[in-house]
Amino acid sequence: MYSHLTVGVLALQGDFERHLFRLSLLNANAREVRALPDLEGLDGLIIPGGESTTMNLLLDRFGMRSKLQELCRQKGVWGTCAGMIMLAQEVDDERVKPLQVIDISVKRNAYGRQVDSFHTEVRAELNGKPSLLSASFIRAPIVSRVGKGVKILSEHNGKPILLIQNNCLVSSFHTELDEDLTLTKYYLENLVSVFK
Ligand code: GLN
Repeated sequence: MYSHLTVGVLALQGDFERHLFRLSLLNANAREVRALPDLEGLDGLIIPGGESTTMNLLLDRFGMRSKLQELCRQKGVWGTCAGMIMLAQEVDDERVKPLQVIDISVKRNAYGRQVDSFHTEVRAELNGKPSLLSASFIRAPIVSRVGKGVKILSEHNGKPILLIQNNCLVSSFHTELDEDLTLTKYYLENLVSVFK
């Protein structure tokens, strides 16, 4: 269905395999992004969950930051959990220098430690329609400020958890761990196809 789209998943560290698998279930061309040349020819990019301090270090070590940032400003990009932290404007931890693609501020680990992880279903408004999404919160960040141009697509306990600004989608939760393909499809249709 999406075989005309090539989407990279940043694979320096973290939960990239699940995203690659979800993309392949939808017949998109999914590619691991481990080095600069892997950024060529992509129609979109996913920054997965993991550890944002480590991703931050590796981006610089492999000299990928500016090329990646350029891509994130042009193509459909989706950050989940640590990926959301990487794409934010501001992070409450000076060890992470964010890519500043979406105008939000985030607080790392604000849902607690690994043992405080939980799974739930959340309501989202996707293309004007109410949808239900499977969501896992694992040492998730909290969004502490939402800029003017940013739209909130879902909230949990009064806190924004899914947001979009132009070509950039971010979720503080993981949905790729479950069978639910709703958000992956939404990303391919509304971001990757549109900003191709
Ligand atoms: N706590 C991690 C970080 O700050 C994010 C956790 C996750 O991606 N599940 O990078």
